[in-house]
Amino acid sequence: MKLEQLLAKCPKCGSQDKTVQRKILDEHRAHSEMKAVVCDECGHIFEEKDEKENKKEELKE
Ligand SMILES: [Zn+2]
Repeated sequence: MKLEQLLAKCPKCGSQDKTVQRKILDEHRAHSEMKAVVCDECGHIFEEKDEKENKKEELKE
C-alpha cells in the first residue's frame, strides 16, 4: 500500500476517506493476503494496478 494511494481521491465521489480491507485466501497460501481499498463514502474499490503489474513481470522471469 503506497501512501499515494491512501491519499488519492475517489474517482466517483472525490472523498479521501477510505478503508483498507484484507482477505485471507487459504487455498493459495503463497498469495494468502489480498488487499482492497474501499471508499468510505460510496464503496468504490480502488485497484492496486501497480502491484498486479509487478507480480506478472515476476512470473514471466
Ligand atoms: Zn467514493
